[in-house]
Amino acid sequence: MQAIHDGQCGACGHFGEHHKTDVLVSILSSKKAEETFLDDCGHPKHAALHLKVTAISGCDGFVAAASA
Ligand code: SF4
Repeated sequence: MQAIHDGQCGACGHFGEHHKTDVLVSILSSKKAEETFLDDCGHPKHAALHLKVTAISGCDGFVAAASA
């Protein structure tokens, strides 16, 4: 497991935003994720490219996810 910090995809509202799953909710609440876990970035500038990111990736489009 990898710790997730503010600014990283696992804490971003765009991480898998079009299909929120239990895994995504648990990543957000525990601030930990498997290194190999990938999901879609739903940011409007990335969605059309079907960008897949890990929970510890990041970009300047970060927006803090609302806590569940
Ligand atoms: S790539 Fe950027 S916008 Fe997409 S989930 Fe990660 S931090 Fe958020």
